[in-house]
Amino acid sequence: MKISSMFDGSKTVLSFEVFPPKRTMPIETIYKTLEQLDGLHPEFISVTYGAGGGEANKRTLEVASYIKTQYHIEPLMHMTCINSTKSDIDQMLKLAQEHDISNIMTLRGDIVPDIEPKDDFHYAADLAAYVKAKGDFDICGACYPEGHIDSPDLVTDVLNLRRKVDAGCTHLISQLFFDNSYFYSFMERAHIAGINVPIEAGIMPVTNKKQIERMVTLCGACLPPKFTKMMQRYEHHPEALADAGIAYAVDQIADLVAQGVDGIHLYTMNNPTVARRICESVGNLFSVPPQR
Ligand code: FAD
Repeated sequence: MKISSMFDGSKTVLSFEVFPPKRTMPIETIYKTLEQLDGLHPEFISVTYGAGGGEANKRTLEVASYIKTQYHIEPLMHMTCINSTKSDIDQMLKLAQEHDISNIMTLRGDIVPDIEPKDDFHYAADLAAYVKAKGDFDICGACYPEGHIDSPDLVTDVLNLRRKVDAGCTHLISQLFFDNSYFYSFMERAHIAGINVPIEAGIMPVTNKKQIERMVTLCGACLPPKFTKMMQRYEHHPEALADAGIAYAVDQIADLVAQGVDGIHLYTMNNPTVARRICESVGNLFSVPPQR
């Protein structure tokens, strides 16, 4: 099933993101997580892909294929392009087709200082156009409510996002954010830029301090005072910190769904307990048709 067709206005879409285990770990380590996530009835599950490209990413395909065959949940396979040639991408798309995977998230990937980027693709839009021309794929792209970290300003960022949609993305998933007002302002900019595809809000429940430091370094998300206060208050009490992080995410989700967001994409960090606690708190909100 094409993921973009899930946004038919009858409900708010709930989806999850997982990452494949490192190559040094057995692939089975993810299976238990998936078993528990299946019980939470997401509409689809996305599987991340290494920015380096190459063989390591066969695991993404393996996990995506397992989600489809074992649980009959639609997988969304991420693919990055900055360190890949057209022939690398062709190989991966061929494998995806052989595994009946038709939903692809096209990404540039972060530029890694010690890897010289390949020349075939410069931006995610290049990959989106390429994948579109290669077969009957449904294509998703990433968007950034606070602007992408390399963007000079928010207007340039949304105009570049429009190019990605014009190249073939029929659905977008946002970077994580901790202040919903950034997401609402971004939605207005996207609307003005003529972006009319469904946009899911990416929510990451923060349950430990290391996670916050890593996330902020990677994506530069602003931390509102309410959030930092809470994290400081409980930083030496892991269980209380997890409760606070889950409560914060639940509050963000309840507000977004009430405001009519197209979907919530939960960055599960492969932690089914956290995903379950969130679904127990707000699961019923997703079956109410969104008001526009
Ligand atoms: P692009 O859309 O290409 O944008 C990158 C930058 O280039 C932006 O600043 C944009 O404004 C600018 N730009 C775009 N087009 C042009 C143009 N024509 N001219 C000039 N500038 C332009 N990374 C992974 O390695 N693996 C994953 O699985 C993964 N999954 C992700 C999932 C989500 C939902 C999100 C939000 C991010 C994910 N990332 C992942 C991170 C992502 O790869 C990085 O944020 C990366 O730096 C940008 O990727 P992009 O696809 O958004 O790039």
